[in-house]
Amino acid sequence: MAESINTDEREVRESKNFIENIIENDIDKNSYQRSVKTRFPPEPNGYLHIGHAKSICLNFSMAAKYDGGCNLRFDDTNPTKEDTEYVEAIKEDVKWLGFDWSELRFASDYFDTMYECAVKLIKKGKAFVCELNADEMREYRGTLTEPGKESPYRNRSAEENLKLFEEMKNGKYPDGAMVLRAKIDMTSPNMNMRDPVIYRISHLPHHNSGDKWCVYPMYDFAHPIEDAIEGVTHSICTMEFEDHRPLYEWVLAETEWENPPKQIEFARLNITNTLMSKRYLKELVDNGTVESWDDPRLPTISGLRRRGYTPEAVRDFCERIGVAKSNSIVEIGQLENCVREDLKNRVESRNVILDPLKVVITNYPDNKTEECELENNKEVEEMGTRMVPFSRELYVEREDFMEVPVKKYFRLFPGNEVRFKGAYFITCEEVIKDDAGNVTELRCTYDPETRSGSGFEGRKVKGTIHWVDAKTAEKITVREFDYLKIEDENGTEIMNPDTMKIFEAYAEPAIKDSKPGTRYQFFRHGYYIEDTKLSSEENKVFNQIVGLKSSWKPKK
Ligand code: ATP
Ligand code: MG
Repeated sequence: MAESINTDEREVRESKNFIENIIENDIDKNSYQRSVKTRFPPEPNGYLHIGHAKSICLNFSMAAKYDGGCNLRFDDTNPTKEDTEYVEAIKEDVKWLGFDWSELRFASDYFDTMYECAVKLIKKGKAFVCELNADEMREYRGTLTEPGKESPYRNRSAEENLKLFEEMKNGKYPDGAMVLRAKIDMTSPNMNMRDPVIYRISHLPHHNSGDKWCVYPMYDFAHPIEDAIEGVTHSICTMEFEDHRPLYEWVLAETEWENPPKQIEFARLNITNTLMSKRYLKELVDNGTVESWDDPRLPTISGLRRRGYTPEAVRDFCERIGVAKSNSIVEIGQLENCVREDLKNRVESRNVILDPLKVVITNYPDNKTEECELENNKEVEEMGTRMVPFSRELYVEREDFMEVPVKKYFRLFPGNEVRFKGAYFITCEEVIKDDAGNVTELRCTYDPETRSGSGFEGRKVKGTIHWVDAKTAEKITVREFDYLKIEDENGTEIMNPDTMKIFEAYAEPAIKDSKPGTRYQFFRHGYYIEDTKLSSEENKVFNQIVGLKSSWKPKK
């Protein structure tokens, strides 16, 4: 199965995506007379999520592929929601993903140029100061089926507009008193072209420019100018900006840039079983549904990092899903598969018992301990082996025992013999229960002839299970996670009320060598990482990264 996915993927990767076709065509025609330049332009109003990772991978990889550059630009033209905490977090996330920006820019550093551009529009008779209030503005705007009406302020002279705009800038008017609008076409079928607002008044301090400005450019006016200033050639954004493209082009044409950038839209990434908008993610953080922006349950880049996902896996995922124009929802299992595939050959294995059941080997000497050799990674021989102690009392997983076995159950049940991996063949002889009838202990015997590696060729057993020596076991805390969104019985996605399970587990003593951030395969369970925030020498805490088995299957 894995083989067939890979062949399909390879074919997809070899064919070019539509953005590559556009860029190559521009290179052939030397449309820009400069090298390819892209940018990743987050607004610093929250942490980045896996959707942003798709945009980051796309922008940086296009620049790299065509020997160009990619800027990291903070699109910080709105003073209300922005914060320097987010700026630092975003930088860290982009670096962690493995990308280096050519230049680090802040859109707010361009406020002077943007102001000049607005003045230029006014002088050309292409912008006017409008004093309609919000309700009137809405009414004048028209609808999708009806044209809008021109503002009564539309035909002010350039001199009057210049004077008012300067007074707006100098703080003469309160928030909302007036705005600067582009003069385009109130009858345009594209609502974005109906004299859009390009500057508004806001007396809030800005995280970068402080109190210097009290007028701020609107996104649709600011963004094309930011791109042009930085010499961007291909301004890649998501589909919801498709209808804004005529305005993007209008701004660049009217403010007279040579070889202006071009906007290209692609479909936003959506993933099942999770949430993907900074606004909703912030809500979960603020209302305490999750602990922080880097909570391992969140699809934020910092959450995925803490969860134990690798940058390689995230990049691989972004490449595999490809770029398209039509919106679709990607199965979360596809992301998990990338993580699994990446970790499979990289991390060492450890024996950990998550739900312990005690086993006593009644014919094993009381004071003896043996060292059993276990491979660190069964796929990669070069990763070597480690020694794991074995003695009379051990723990096994409760689910590896059934008092009354179902059909095809080959693990422990009364009278059955199984292999304890790396040690001996063990037979379950007797089941001990407490007063309530719960199984508390298994009395077993071992066959000394069957020691692993001894060349024993006698009987075969069908079941192999893992174990931990009770005397030397290390207690650790394990945190396992479930999806933020699940389907209810009608198939509708709802918020999952139960997303984290915290419990104690027993690990083989080698777990003591682990450091925060070290990943392991907990043998037969899945991949886990020592938490970077909560873990300590005294109490090691591990996060589940992903289970071993995939429930996701590629479509045929
Ligand atoms: P959100 O809706 O989560 O707040 P946003 O689009 O407002 O996201 P920005 O900071 O404005 O976030 O986005 C920076 C860049 O990341 C933009 O170019 C945007 O198109 C892109 N981006 C955001 N979300 C996704 C997504 N789900 N898939 C692909 N690209 C995305
Ligand atoms: Mg946004």
